[in-house]
Amino acid sequence: MSESHSTDRFGFLHIDLNSFFASVEQQIHPEYRGRPLAVVPTMADTTCCIAASYEAKALGIKTGTQVGEAKRICPEIVLIAGNHEVYAEYSHRIAKAVELACPVAHTPSIDEMVCQLMGREQEPPRARKIALEVKQSIYRNAGEALRCSIGMAPNRYLAKIASDMQKPDGLIGLLPSQLPRAIAHLELRDLPGVGARTEVRLNAKGITTMPQLLALDREGMHKLWDSVWGDRLYHWLRGADSGDDGAPVSTGIQKSLGHSHVLGPEHRSQQGAWAVAHKLLHKAAMRLRMEKFYTGSLAVTIRFQLTREQAERMKSKKHFSGIKHSGWAMEARFRDCQDTLTLLEVLRSLWAQRPQGPEFNKPFFVGVTLRNLIPESEHQAELFADPTNRDQLSTTMDKLNLKYGHTTLHFAGMLPAREAAPTRIAFTQIPVQYGVDYM
Ligand SMILES: [Mg+2]
Repeated sequence: MSESHSTDRFGFLHIDLNSFFASVEQQIHPEYRGRPLAVVPTMADTTCCIAASYEAKALGIKTGTQVGEAKRICPEIVLIAGNHEVYAEYSHRIAKAVELACPVAHTPSIDEMVCQLMGREQEPPRARKIALEVKQSIYRNAGEALRCSIGMAPNRYLAKIASDMQKPDGLIGLLPSQLPRAIAHLELRDLPGVGARTEVRLNAKGITTMPQLLALDREGMHKLWDSVWGDRLYHWLRGADSGDDGAPVSTGIQKSLGHSHVLGPEHRSQQGAWAVAHKLLHKAAMRLRMEKFYTGSLAVTIRFQLTREQAERMKSKKHFSGIKHSGWAMEARFRDCQDTLTLLEVLRSLWAQRPQGPEFNKPFFVGVTLRNLIPESEHQAELFADPTNRDQLSTTMDKLNLKYGHTTLHFAGMLPAREAAPTRIAFTQIPVQYGVDYM
């Protein structure tokens, strides 16, 4: 097998809905299709547009344009007061449509979805076919006015960048063998995590263009950022995935499988977060078995929304959506398994150790990751038969769920938590330092 053949694979699809709020309005109101339209928070000339249709964007009206200014540019612009509930409902509808083509692993925001490709899905022609199926399914099952741009890349960071490179209705793939030159023409600001303030800082250190940034070695990137973020970015931009310390992880073998979700405002409670974590684990475990892996590690991440006052008191980070937050993550290592019940016990035990207090009452993001994946063929069979027959139970559940849809059969406890359940297996827990994250 040639070098390029074995490494030129796509690990992720990043799906970004184009002009999402405005497109939903055009979906609901066919009479607005093809017309300049802006979604506004309230009907007043002094507020700003929160979304603009492609027809409005073509005139220079965009998110942040003052409504009075938009009316001056285009007196006949359609203005609509935004309805977040409707957008959330469409977001769910779109996620369902995407799932007909490929499971959704992460929902970084209301108009973005990430699919993790596994096994042969990672081969570029197959990945492209899945991406086209995603587009078709959104068009057919969620709405013909809804368009998305899809980025395909070896890691999530590059997939997000790729989704931004062609709009609307884009499909861009970034292959490891083409990196980093395939992104050398971008602006520094096109990199997720590089906002206005970071750009000023980079410029002050003499970096004003992508070619200058890409000319730095890992050491140089570390110094530039003065943190492990620089190391990570160095590897990501070259198509590698990297661990928390920024060290490269070999790309040939599947290392982890994860699902994450940004909670809608109405679910930002302890119970809501637990129900989501439970569901994400269920999904990840099912995928684990479908792709014939065992796992030896489970990590859970929670991000908590902070009030402005809490954020000032604490060391806080800003989510892409603008939410001030603090984060917590913990990983547990255990004997290889692939059954949902065992993984659920681990999750429950980790969950019970999440931080408590007024700053941790509003979880808005939950992530569950299975690491240390081991192919079934390399898994050491148990010396004694599984006394509770857990593997077989999970297999039966998968069959039913494949037949009747993902939510047919869950273990009791998707509903609020029985956190006091005793843990019957031994495992070690490792707190994971919460690093700078891009989404
Ligand atoms: Mg978008």
